[in-house]
Amino acid sequence: MSQAEIIISKIRQVLGDERSRIALHEPCFAGREWEYVRDCLDTGWVSSAGQYVERFEKGLVDFTGVKYAVAVVNGTAALHTALKLVGVEAEDEVLIPALTFIATANAVAYCGAVPHLIDSEPRALGMDPYKLEAYLKDVAVIDKGVCINRLTSRRIKAVVPMHTFGHPVDLDPLLELCQKYHLEMVEDAAESVGSYYKGKHTGGFGKAGILSFNGNKIVTTGGGGAILTNDPELAKLAKHITTTAKQPHPWAFYHDMTGFNYRLPNLNAALGCAQLEQLPGFIDRKRALAQRYQEAFADVPGVTVFKEADFARSNYWLNALLLDEQYAAEREAVLELSNAQGIMTRPAWILMNKLPMYKNCPHMDLSAAQNMERRIINIPSSVFL
Ligand SMILES: *Cc1c(COP(=O)(O)O)cnc(C)c1O
Repeated sequence: MSQAEIIISKIRQVLGDERSRIALHEPCFAGREWEYVRDCLDTGWVSSAGQYVERFEKGLVDFTGVKYAVAVVNGTAALHTALKLVGVEAEDEVLIPALTFIATANAVAYCGAVPHLIDSEPRALGMDPYKLEAYLKDVAVIDKGVCINRLTSRRIKAVVPMHTFGHPVDLDPLLELCQKYHLEMVEDAAESVGSYYKGKHTGGFGKAGILSFNGNKIVTTGGGGAILTNDPELAKLAKHITTTAKQPHPWAFYHDMTGFNYRLPNLNAALGCAQLEQLPGFIDRKRALAQRYQEAFADVPGVTVFKEADFARSNYWLNALLLDEQYAAEREAVLELSNAQGIMTRPAWILMNKLPMYKNCPHMDLSAAQNMERRIINIPSSVFL
C-alpha cells in the first residue's frame, strides 16, 4: 500500500465503513433546537428582539467564565468590531498569524489597517511568541508609549493570536509582549469554544476576544459570532456599535455614531441556546474521537495526529494529521484519493501572504508556517463520528 492508502485505511478503521460519504465537519442537532426555533416562529420574535439573544449571551458568559458576551451575526463581524473597540485605526498594523483563516486578515483590512504576518510554532500551530519577541526587538521601537514599526513608520496597535483547529496558543509570553510593546490583544477564539489555556477558557485573555458559531464550528447558530470581554465599558460599547448605535427611545431614531447592523437575530440565538446545552457532551466526544485517531495512527510511520500542548486542553474542533517532512509530497495524493472515496479531507489554509490582496503585507520570516502548511491534512471531525 502507498502511504496515502495506509492513511485512508486508518481513517476508515476509526470511522467505520458504513457511510458512503463522510464530511469534514457537520453540525449535530440532537437537543432542543426544534423547540426553541419553533418558539421563535410561534411568537413571531425572529429578528432583532426576543429573549434568546440575551439568554445565549448569558449562556456564553456562564460557559466561558468571561464576564461579558455580545452576540453578533458572524465571527468576522465580531473580529471587526473587537479590533475597532481596542482602538485599531486606519493605517495601523495588526500582528496576525500568516497561517489562519481569511477572516482574521479581512477584519484587519475592514478597519483600514494592515495585517502584519507572524510565523507559527509547531507545538501549538499558532503564533510563535518567542520568534515574535526576537522580531519585535529588531523592527519595533517604542515612541511615547506607542509601538512603531521602524521599517514602515506605522503604529503597531494590536496582536491577534488564533487558536488553530481549537488548539490554544501559548498566551502567557504573548501577553508579556503586549505589556512590553503597548499592544492590545484580541484573541481570535473562533475555533476554540470549549478550549482552555492553563485552565481558563480561551477568548478571555486579551482586552477582547471573539467566537464563531458558523455551521462548521463546534456549536452553531447557522451563522453567528460573539465578542467576549471582561471590561464593562467595552462590552457596553460593543453592544451599542453592533446595534446601529441607536440611543434607546420608544420612537426617536437618534444614532450617536456610525454603528453596524451586526446583531445576531433571535432565530439564530435560539439555535445557539440549544447547541450550548450540548456543548460539554460535544467536547467529550471530540476528545474521544481525537484519542481514537491517536491510537489508530500510533503505528503509522511518518504521520502524527496533532495533539494538544501541555498548557492546553483542546476542544479538538478539527483533527489534523501532520506528515513528516519526507512524506510532505504525499499530501496531494491523500487529499485526492480520500476525497474521491467520499472521505472529506482538507489542506491547511494557504498562507495570507500568498493571496493577492495580502501579498504586499509586512511579514517576518515565515519558514515554520510555510513548512507546516505543506504537511497538514484535516480529517473528518464531526461530533457524531
Ligand atoms: C470561523 C473563523 C472565523 C469567523 O468566521 P465566520 O464564518 O465569520 O463566523 C474567524 N477566524 C477563524 C480562524 C475562523 O476559523
